Amino acid sequence: MISDTSPSSLDVAREAYRAISLYAPNREPCAVDLSDNTNLWGVPPAAERAVREAALASFTRYPSLYAPALKGAMAAYLGVEPGMIVTGCGSDDVLDSAIRAFAEPGERVAVPEPSFAMVPIFARMNALEPVAVPLTPTFDLDADAMLATGARVIYLCSPNNPTGNAMSRAAIERVVERAPGVVILDEAYAEFAGANCLELLGRSERLLVVRTMSKAFGLAGLRVGYAAGAPALVAEVEKSRGPYKVHALAERAALAALTDAESMRWVRERVAEVRENRARLVDELTTLGYETVPSDANFVLVSIDNAQDVARAMRAAGVAVRPFDIGLRVTVGPWGSMEELLRVLADARAAE
Ligand code: PMP
Repeated sequence: MISDTSPSSLDVAREAYRAISLYAPNREPCAVDLSDNTNLWGVPPAAERAVREAALASFTRYPSLYAPALKGAMAAYLGVEPGMIVTGCGSDDVLDSAIRAFAEPGERVAVPEPSFAMVPIFARMNALEPVAVPLTPTFDLDADAMLATGARVIYLCSPNNPTGNAMSRAAIERVVERAPGVVILDEAYAEFAGANCLELLGRSERLLVVRTMSKAFGLAGLRVGYAAGAPALVAEVEKSRGPYKVHALAERAALAALTDAESMRWVRERVAEVRENRARLVDELTTLGYETVPSDANFVLVSIDNAQDVARAMRAAGVAVRPFDIGLRVTVGPWGSMEELLRVLADARAAE
């Protein structure tokens, strides 16, 4: 007989796993969605063509096992060898696979706090113990505190989500040089920052730099992520990830975007627009009396006390932003959407 139990009360799952709740932020459609840091201008033209013109054979047959052509294009984009790239179904998949590959069940994964919320969840799903290490008061990386955890895997995120700032280069280098195990450096938002840490790959064979096609490249719906690291390191991630993780249309679209000059120009121009609008938005917010964290990403964290209530009111008025304990995270988009944001934020605060 099927008993009347809610899914959460079933006890067939692993005990530690049962306590993990489903990642389910409010994703109801909203007129202006500034909640997920995607590219609000659209899609590189060659990626769109690649999907529209895809042969039906790419529906009926499996995609390539490990996306070798795409790896070649990603390697060229980053300026590394093709053997140094692993791809995945979004960088979520790459992070999950890497954590699984590099720590035994029960071992620690050090994660800055606040940072990308999925990482502690992936750690627990893989029977690992996430250890939250507070950022400094200016939201920078506390290198010594990260190292003091002795964690087998250290996760860093620069520019960091949700704060938006890049972590200081010296602190990242210190962690990379002294970590006892693998360092995962998440550079999902690197395109929007002035600098990145790819150069550190030459100094450590235990550094994995994670990137995504979901942000600057506008392909979040297609789920393509990747990472660069020493060939032996990425081979372990690939094993953990398994075959066929980048689906055929996603592979085509990502490959087209990375290898077409017009599309690469499109991406560069959109990134330049993000940076311009980010500065303009911060100016406007500052004039209105808000404090923001200096951002190197395509979003800005606005310090606000009751972010949950304000975000709820803003969503009801047609603008979705992401609330955190420390403020509202807003994606930077075309200037018209920034004007909407400022208008709806002012209304929500006035109604408090
Ligand atoms: N890393 C960071 C820091 C992110 O903010 C996100 C998405 N919000 C991801 C990774 C995952 O992105 P995706 O799986 O779309 O590549």
